[in-house]
Amino acid sequence: MKPTSPAPGYAFIPLPERVDRQPRPAYAAHDRRHQGTHAGTLRLTWLAEQPIHVGTGFKRLVGDRNTRAILREHVRLGDVPCIPGSSLKGVLRARFEAVTHSCFDPPKRDVRVKTRSTTFNERGINHAVLTADAARGFERTCRSPGPLCPACALFGALNLRSRLVVTDARPAVPTLDSHTIPEQFAPNLHHAGRLRVRESDNVLEVQRLHGRKFAVGRDERPPPSNYAHVADQRPQRLEILPAGTHLHSELRYTNLTAAELGGLLAALGLAPRSRLKLGGGKCHGLGRLFLAAHTHRPRGKHDDEPLDLDGYAHAFARSPACHAANLARLVALHGEDC
Ligand SMILES: [Zn+2]
Repeated sequence: MKPTSPAPGYAFIPLPERVDRQPRPAYAAHDRRHQGTHAGTLRLTWLAEQPIHVGTGFKRLVGDRNTRAILREHVRLGDVPCIPGSSLKGVLRARFEAVTHSCFDPPKRDVRVKTRSTTFNERGINHAVLTADAARGFERTCRSPGPLCPACALFGALNLRSRLVVTDARPAVPTLDSHTIPEQFAPNLHHAGRLRVRESDNVLEVQRLHGRKFAVGRDERPPPSNYAHVADQRPQRLEILPAGTHLHSELRYTNLTAAELGGLLAALGLAPRSRLKLGGGKCHGLGRLFLAAHTHRPRGKHDDEPLDLDGYAHAFARSPACHAANLARLVALHGEDC
C-alpha cells in the first residue's frame, strides 16, 4: 500500500509511538573493539538512476537574454564531481531514523513563515507557525552519557562520535551535465501537519506534524499555478551527475550489534531492497540512487566475506529498535519509481 501524499512531491512517514531511549551501551564507542559486535568495511557501488545534484551553494547566471538561467554548481573534490560522504551519511541517518523508534529534529517552532496558498492567501492568511507542541516527545535531546535513541547511538549525538564512517562517493567516469528544473521554493510549512486558523492574529497553526518528510517526486510537472508569486519564477539549471553514473564509496563500521547492522542494511536499501533519494530537485525527477553492488570485508580479515543479509535483517526486525510498519512504508515509497 502506498502512503498518500498530502503535498506534491512529498510523503510523510509517521513518527513512532514513542522514542526508545536506552542507557548508552559500552560498545557504543569507536576507539576499541568490543566482543560480540561486528566491524568491517563495505565497498559500495552506487548507480545514479536519475541525475544527481549536490549543490555547493554557489550559483551563477548563464545564457543570453532569452535563455538566462541560474546555474547551481555541483560539489567537487579537487576537479572531480562527487557525492560528499556527509551527504550520503545524512540520507542514511534520515532513513535509519524513519524505520526505528528514534528522536526527531523538528523545524523551528514558534517562528512565523510565509505561506504560499491561494486558498489561505485570498483570506488574508499569509503566515504559518509550528506550535511548540507539534513534535512533543520526539525532540532531539539525546546526549551522551544520557540515554540514547537508536539513531543517536549509532550515528552519533552530542558528546558521542558515530560508529560509522562514510567516504565520498567518486564517479567511475567523472562527467558533469546540466539539467533544468522549475524554481524551487522552501517547503510549505502548512503541509507538514494538522492545521487550525489562529483567529487572534490570523495565522495558520500547525499543531501536530504528519511525520518525517520524504521526497517522492519523479515527474517534471511545473509547480502548481496557484503559487502566489508565480510571475517571479525562473527556471533553474543544475550541474548534475548524469543518470547512469556509477560511483564508489566505502562505509566503515565499528562495534555494531547484529540488529544495528540489519538496520543499516535497511537504510542502505540493501535488505530489504529500496532506493535512496539524495540532493537537490528530488521532487523533479532527480536524486535516485541504487546500491548496485557491494563487497564486504570484516575487520582484521584479508579476504572479502559475504554479508548474511537475511540474518542481519531478521536480527533488526526482532529488535525493539525496529519500527516494522515504517520500514514497510519507506520501502513502498522508495521503490523503483520514486
Ligand atoms: Zn536521538
